[in-house]
Amino acid sequence: MLKDELQSLLTSVKEHLAEITDADQLRQYEFDILGRKGRFTNLARKISAAPASERPALGQLINTTKQELEQVFQTVKESFAARSTADLEPSLDVTLPGVHSAQGHLHLVTRAIEEIEKIFLPLGFSRMSYREIEWDHYAFESLNMPKDHPARDEWETFFISEKEVGKYGRVLLTPHTSSGQVREMEKRKKRGEGVRMVNIAKCYRRQIDISHLPMFHQFEGLAVDTTVTMRQLIGTIQHFVTHFFGEGRKARLRPYHFRFTEPSFEIDVTCGICLGRSCAYCKDGWSEIGGAGMVHPNVLKAGGYDPKQYTGFAFGFGVERSYMMKNNLNIGDLRLLYSNDIRFLEQF
Ligand SMILES: [Zn+2]
Repeated sequence: MLKDELQSLLTSVKEHLAEITDADQLRQYEFDILGRKGRFTNLARKISAAPASERPALGQLINTTKQELEQVFQTVKESFAARSTADLEPSLDVTLPGVHSAQGHLHLVTRAIEEIEKIFLPLGFSRMSYREIEWDHYAFESLNMPKDHPARDEWETFFISEKEVGKYGRVLLTPHTSSGQVREMEKRKKRGEGVRMVNIAKCYRRQIDISHLPMFHQFEGLAVDTTVTMRQLIGTIQHFVTHFFGEGRKARLRPYHFRFTEPSFEIDVTCGICLGRSCAYCKDGWSEIGGAGMVHPNVLKAGGYDPKQYTGFAFGFGVERSYMMKNNLNIGDLRLLYSNDIRFLEQF
């Protein structure tokens, strides 16, 4: 009877499996039973010889027997696998030196930006970030630099479109963070507030050599209110210099000319190497870090503030340059900062 044969096959397989000790033997035995010409497969074929009335019940029995066979083989296989990984697992030696995974850090420019932001926040300056693609109006025109004014030459600007759009003019990549000044003023004026912001953003100029990058960062401070004075400008810059460069470093203002401030100054800070005593690096004890001044009445007007009631100060420094000066890093080629060479970046 096929039914009995199936039952006895199952019993003998279970008995034989208990004697098998390695995986190769197991694989071979499984093939002998369940393979295409295996003992179970041959038995199952016999169903075709059974009377038609018995076939459905036999078919079901064949299926359950097959499932049970597969199950017992699977169980033995799993116990073999568990045993072999247990054999492979090394014993844990807690006295061996550990394996250190490589640890990265933020890019030095990112760190400089975070540090700058932290210095200005306690003074009530909010960190802003204005767009990198801007209208000519915000980058130049509203900053008291009309079209064709020679002052524009200093900002070697990337223009994106030739098309002039009304008072906004052409589209360009912001050549300085000052493009955020009038935008911030417009926003604050609408809310009936003064301005106290520090705008830290990318700037673009058509320049590339060892000391210039086509993309670099600036940070720009702007304060506008009814009581803003030059004394506050000097105090703010000295606050930054002390906190960024360290105690004992001093700032000085040197008269200069910018279109968007009046009066205007260039800012110097005492040299980090000689601390102002003068050395071969700085020559006279001072290094220039940026520009500043009292906001020009035309710029206040462009931002919606009445220059008879309001005054303001603004200053702008380069992030990369300030960071280099802070750490006395005399990097021979500024382009290294953005070359993504890990050997260079790891040093900071
Ligand atoms: Zn020096």
